[in-house]
Amino acid sequence: MKLPQGPIVAAVCALVILIAPFTGLLPDYWITLFNYIGISSLVAIGLVLLTGVGGMTSFGQSAFVGFGAYTTGALTVYFGISPWLTLPAALIVTMIVAAGVGAVTVRLSGHYLPLATIAWGIAFFYLFGNMTWLGAHDGLPGIPALQIGTHQLTDPREYFVVVWVAVVLAVIATQNLLGGRVGRAIRALRRSTRAAEAFGVNTAGAKLMVFVYAAMLAGLAGWLYAHFQRSVSPGPFGINAGTEYLLMAVLGGAGRVYGAILGAAGITVLRDQLQNVLPWLFGHTGNFEAIAYGAVLVLVLQTATNGLWPILFGPPPPPKPPQPRDGEQLPRHTLPSPGTRLLQVQDARKQFGGLTAVNDVSFDVESGRIIGLIGPNGAGKSTTFNLITGVIPLTSGSIQFEGHALQAQTPQRAAQLGLGRTFQHVEIVPDMSVIENVALGAHLLGHAGVFRSMLKLDRDEEAKLFATAKRQLERVGLADVAFNPAGTLALGQLRLVEVARALCLNPVLLLLDEPAAGLRVGEKKSLAKLLREVRAEGISVLLVEHDMDFVMSLANHLVVLDFGTKIAEGVPADIRQNPAVLEAYLGGVA
Ligand code: ADP
Ligand code: MG
Repeated sequence: MKLPQGPIVAAVCALVILIAPFTGLLPDYWITLFNYIGISSLVAIGLVLLTGVGGMTSFGQSAFVGFGAYTTGALTVYFGISPWLTLPAALIVTMIVAAGVGAVTVRLSGHYLPLATIAWGIAFFYLFGNMTWLGAHDGLPGIPALQIGTHQLTDPREYFVVVWVAVVLAVIATQNLLGGRVGRAIRALRRSTRAAEAFGVNTAGAKLMVFVYAAMLAGLAGWLYAHFQRSVSPGPFGINAGTEYLLMAVLGGAGRVYGAILGAAGITVLRDQLQNVLPWLFGHTGNFEAIAYGAVLVLVLQTATNGLWPILFGPPPPPKPPQPRDGEQLPRHTLPSPGTRLLQVQDARKQFGGLTAVNDVSFDVESGRIIGLIGPNGAGKSTTFNLITGVIPLTSGSIQFEGHALQAQTPQRAAQLGLGRTFQHVEIVPDMSVIENVALGAHLLGHAGVFRSMLKLDRDEEAKLFATAKRQLERVGLADVAFNPAGTLALGQLRLVEVARALCLNPVLLLLDEPAAGLRVGEKKSLAKLLREVRAEGISVLLVEHDMDFVMSLANHLVVLDFGTKIAEGVPADIRQNPAVLEAYLGGVA
């Protein structure tokens, strides 16, 4: 089932939210339940972004709900500040705490990250419980209701409107964010960090941003919770609640924003029912829900790894990028005049433990030329690429690019200097459309940040970014699959997508690692034609390729590596005759 989107749906949602609670169709009990579902949905939406999209699992979101709730609780109870004024305060406090916690946490990899969230989740729970001025384990009673004029929103039906308006706004803002420039960077984090970095995405910054965004949604939930519940105590902000929120995100569909609401509804109703059924079953009251949650989680992970949403509604299409407007493109780099020395590799050396992968290799790349870097498997070609593009540091030697020392630089810095690259093992975000993958290449040419994306103020820039992406896709002959999910393409096509993405960076030097591997004869011919065009435009190319006819026909100059050492260098005609090269390739038969 394809879900309709757009202004009509938004209008219908708004109408339902405004009218539903007052129709008399829903008993009070369900209104209250729906309010809790809405509040939990906010936390779960943040978790979808953090865990499902960004790949960072957090058990500790409940602590941020607590910071939002306690901030407004303390400010309203002790200082008599109006709840509307405490909203920004609650968000700012949550933001500051999240930035501090996140700066330490998001750097952790693998299982250490979720473990860390459990650790600080527990720590904050005890912090709330031991602050006597916050009422310790008894909490803070007497929190005022929200008020409009002199009217107090104590009726759950009125609160329903407040909660669900917040949920709808959060959904819209989050969808907008994910569809924009920053969103593409976030979506690339989990599946292809290397590609994101190669095109200038500050991955550590993007992770921290997602972490803080998710925490602030939790803080908003806490603020709403405090003024609905009218009291706060540490209980709902502990690690149990944190696990429940995570379960909501996973149950609904960890990669889907709407799934968060589905998951929140499922778990909230389940908890409600279990609290009636389980004590009856066991004969006495107790915290039995955890057992059921465990069973649900195992069941979901076994049978529906993507949650319930895709099962109920089918796989959703990737967010639709804006239609590119022709003619409007982003500005281009001024390229150096042909023949100037661009790249200077001097005695570059890379050792992996005892293995010397690149052994004091030197060569130059001049502008407007295609340089072939060839050699048998394991010769050190890809390692040389990674040294030039800042993926790994040199053991010794130096690499200069237009007067900038590249050693000890990051891939992001290499991208800024105009080095665009492809990967020998393709680095593509499979659940993003082809054109969005290509647009990631133009990340540095755009400027829209979180707020402009959330409010959709980035449409003009996005249209230009996509026009650039579309043009590059046309050049590699893939315009007709631009809006397909990238994961559906064949390997050869993905290599061309990578070439288009690298061209989107607006490169001064293009580094292609075996771009013709897996291409059909016709595709190879088109690629060769494209590379000649690119050279004619003044862009230089450093080309690693195994297809000798392909590379010999294109390259102005060849550098030959064998076991990490440069064994020859020269024009293709000479290299063909070079005994050392023949020896390396044919093992002495020549
Ligand atoms: P090529 O691209 O020319 O086929 P590579 O540059 O990928 O060769 O690899 C050169 C040598 O370095 C190989 O022996 C490879 O196993 C080794 N190597 C590459 N990357 C690493 C790494 N990260 N750690 C250890 N050894 C590596
Ligand atoms: Mg290689």
